[in-house]
Amino acid sequence: MEGYHSKQVDVEVRLNTNESPYPPPDGFRDALAAEMSRVEWHRYPDRGATALRADIAALHGVDAAQVFVANGSNEVLQTVLLAYAGPGRTVATFEPTYQMHAQIARVTGATVVEGERGADFTLEPAEVDRVLVEHQPHVVFLTSPNNPTGLVEPRERVEQLLAGAPGLVVVDEAYSQFAEWSAVDMVDEERPLVVTRTFSKTWSMAGARLGYLVGPTWLVAELDKVVLPYHLDVAKQLAGRTALRFADEMNERVALLVAERDRMSRELRTLPIDVFDSGANFILLRPRSQSGAAVWQALVDRSILVRDCSGWPRLENCLRVTVGTPDENNRFLAALADIVGSRPVSSQPVSGTDCDTDGDPTVRKPMT
Ligand code: PMP
Repeated sequence: MEGYHSKQVDVEVRLNTNESPYPPPDGFRDALAAEMSRVEWHRYPDRGATALRADIAALHGVDAAQVFVANGSNEVLQTVLLAYAGPGRTVATFEPTYQMHAQIARVTGATVVEGERGADFTLEPAEVDRVLVEHQPHVVFLTSPNNPTGLVEPRERVEQLLAGAPGLVVVDEAYSQFAEWSAVDMVDEERPLVVTRTFSKTWSMAGARLGYLVGPTWLVAELDKVVLPYHLDVAKQLAGRTALRFADEMNERVALLVAERDRMSRELRTLPIDVFDSGANFILLRPRSQSGAAVWQALVDRSILVRDCSGWPRLENCLRVTVGTPDENNRFLAALADIVGSRPVSSQPVSGTDCDTDGDPTVRKPMT
C-alpha cells in the first residue's frame, strides 16, 4: 500500500490542504489559555468526553448519546470502519472522492468497491443502485461536499442510499458548513446513518485534530467499544468546548470564505480553465491547454502551493485550490492568469482580511 500524503513545499501562499486561512478569534485563545491553566494534568481526561459531547449535541439539537468524538474526523472514520468493516466485509465509495475512506477500509482488511461518477463528477442514481445491488456493501460512503470535486450531493442521493443500502451509510460532511444543506437532520434511531464532521475547516482548528459524528445511539455505543480508552486528551476536549462558545465569529469566517470562493469561481471561469461547482472551501479546476502538473509547478515557482490531483485516477490534469484570504486568492488568480496566458476579469474581493469586523457577511449560516 501507498500512504496518503499531501506534498509540502516551503512557499509563501499555501492553498493545498483546505485549512482555514483565518486563525480562531483572539477571545478563543484567551479563554482556552485560562481553561488550560486549571487542568489537572496528573489525571486521565474524562474518558467519555461527556461535556464536549453534550455541547456538540446541543449545537445540533440531538442527544449527547448520539455524538461520538475523536482525533479528527479521520479517526472518527477509522473507528467506524474498525467497528463495521474488516476482513470479509465490503465498503463502497463513489470515485473520485476522499481517498482515506478506501485507504482506512483496506487497512482494516475490508474489500473496497468503487462506484463511478460521471465525467462532470456528478453521481447518477443508476450507478448508486448498481453498486448497492451488485455488491451489497456493509458500509457505503458519500462525501458531501465531495473532496476533491467540491460538488454537493442532493438530499435524494442520501435518501436513495438509505432506501437501498443493506448496511451502514456514512455521509462525510467535513465541508458541509460551506454548503447549503446538511444530512444531520436525517439522523434518527431507526436508520443506520452517521454524519461525520470536523473542527479542522470551519472551526479554524486543524491544529487541534478534533472531529465527531452524529448517529443513532446504538451505533455510537458500538464505537465506544472499539475506540481506545482516553483517546481524547484533556486539552482537545477543552479546545472543542471553548470553540463552540465562538460560533458567531466562526460563522463569520465561513461567510467570508464562501463569498471568496464564489468570487474566485467567477474569475476562474474567465480563464481558459474548466472550473467545477463547489460547495466547499476549495475549487477543483482543469487547465484546458496545459498539463496540470506543469501549471502546478509554475505556481510553485511563484511561491504558491495548490493540491496537484493531476496524477490521481479520474482527475487527469486537475488541480485543487483552497480558498485563502483575499490577498492570497488574488495572488493565486494573477499567477494562474499569467501561467495560462490570459487576464482574469477582476471582481472586487470581499471586504476585510480579518474577521473582527462587525460587518454583515454576505452569507450567514448557523454553524451546524
Ligand atoms: N473528510 C474529508 C472529506 C476531508 O477532506 C478531510 C480532510 N482532508 C477529512 C475528512 C479529515 O479531516 P480531519 O481529520 O482533519 O477532521
